[in-house]
Amino acid sequence: MNIDSLKDTCKGTVITAGDPNFLEAIRGNLWNRLIPDRAPEIVVKAADEDDIIAAVRFARANKRKVAVRGGGHNWCQPTLRNGGLLIDIQAFTKVVSIDVENRKAIIQPIISNRDVQKTLNPLGLAFPTGHCPQVKASGYFLSGGMAWNPMVWGSGAESLEAIELVTAQGQLIKASETENPDYFWAARGSGAGFFGIVTKYYLKLYPLPQAIHGSTYFYSLEDAPTVGTWLGETAPKISPSVELSQFIVQAPPELREKTAARKGWLCMVTGVAFEDTPEAAKAALQPLEEIPIEPLSSSFATPFNFEQLFDASGALWPEGVRSRVEATFSNRNPGEMIQAILPLLPKAPSPTTVFLFTIFCGPDVPAPQKDMAFSMHSRVYGGPWTMWRDAKDDQVNNDWHQELIKTLRPYNLGYYISESNTIERPANVVEAFTPEKWQRLCDLRDKYDPDRVFFDYFDGFGRKQTI
Ligand SMILES: Cc1cc2nc3c(=O)[nH]c(=O)nc-3n(C[C@H](O)[C@H](O)[C@H](O)COP(=O)(O)OP(=O)(O)OC[C@H]3O[C@@H](n4cnc5c(N)ncnc54)[C@H](O)[C@@H]3O)c2cc1C
Repeated sequence: MNIDSLKDTCKGTVITAGDPNFLEAIRGNLWNRLIPDRAPEIVVKAADEDDIIAAVRFARANKRKVAVRGGGHNWCQPTLRNGGLLIDIQAFTKVVSIDVENRKAIIQPIISNRDVQKTLNPLGLAFPTGHCPQVKASGYFLSGGMAWNPMVWGSGAESLEAIELVTAQGQLIKASETENPDYFWAARGSGAGFFGIVTKYYLKLYPLPQAIHGSTYFYSLEDAPTVGTWLGETAPKISPSVELSQFIVQAPPELREKTAARKGWLCMVTGVAFEDTPEAAKAALQPLEEIPIEPLSSSFATPFNFEQLFDASGALWPEGVRSRVEATFSNRNPGEMIQAILPLLPKAPSPTTVFLFTIFCGPDVPAPQKDMAFSMHSRVYGGPWTMWRDAKDDQVNNDWHQELIKTLRPYNLGYYISESNTIERPANVVEAFTPEKWQRLCDLRDKYDPDRVFFDYFDGFGRKQTI
């Protein structure tokens, strides 16, 4: 098959380097506006599964490697490789079915976290989506999926019942615990190194918690280590229904004056309880009232719905930013880590930057390993989301970010595969998995993609590559 017959075969668009809309096709839908100078030779905007199959078969026949673009939200841009074919699945936006009685749904990958909840919540159902409204299911599940209500619902990938995918041989198959289980195991956590293109996700749904309540506390930056230490020590005694986070962010307008000495930076603690009655939610959040430091301001157990949770998250992670992220897992006390970076925090060059630790609550932390590629289970998850708007500030933000992550490195247990720098620091890939799971992932790639049709974690960042 040559490029002309690929164009004839596909219902979607095939765009090649040099076409007037080529740059828009490869860069237009990337969330991070810090865009590397890498480019494929061909983009296939697949309209359906048949287009994906045709594109994979074309790639095999013409010795081109394949990269996949889901929602374009992975901040370090693994969907941009030098050379080969980029298969963009932006058109896969449908909710295929919802079975309310049996609490199951089937979705195509390009549905946002907000739209998943918006579809399910009116039916009394919910799903462990990610936190930001605009991020799509596509690569979220492949990453493992750091979800809302994590200690009750688990990670997003834990609530997958099956997937459909196109293999490196260009075949459409289904995978689950019982059918093609190796693909199902690998898809749940392998991130940018998955050797297939997922076209459908089969979801296990949950009853919508009837009382989602949130508490917020603001502290001065100096108090952040003491607050973090208390949270780390107390989290095992807090209900697993509470999602507990400690942020370093810019103060809201009413606290700007009080935090002026620290250039507006302060510590924010949020607890969100996913319960079924207001009484249970208040009881779950009550321990946070005992934090032994006087807050600058606070609010206790405000009722929320998912729309409002997404609005709050979306305000912290806006569109149109340039960004570097290093999300890590740790079993150390968050206070100890914040103490280590405290001198650096007020020097953050950009006010849009967010530093976050999620501190997992309940007695069963760290959660036991699950039988899937996703390997990271810890007491604490998080790190810096360094975000700025102007290209002239790239260097200063990068320098600050690097200093911060270097300081935190001794505390890291491992990395989140889809929210850390797996390209400039390839060791982050290996350190996102237990050694056993990493070995199994490599063995499965050898078995199911022996010709290396798909770019793996490390290919395509230098010169153009062929199979
Ligand atoms: C603002 C923001 C908030 C976030 N919040 C969260 C959060 O709360 N929880 C969380 O877990 N993560 C979160 N993330 C991280 C996000 O889930 C990952 O970066 C994820 O990879 C994004 O998915 P995507 O489809 O946009 O990926 P893309 O950038 O399109 O692709 C990333 C990689 O995934 C692979 N891929 C994507 N889709 C497919 C597919 N269908 N088949 C095969 N391979 C595919 C590709 O190989 C690609 O290399 C957040 C990211 C941002 C930018």
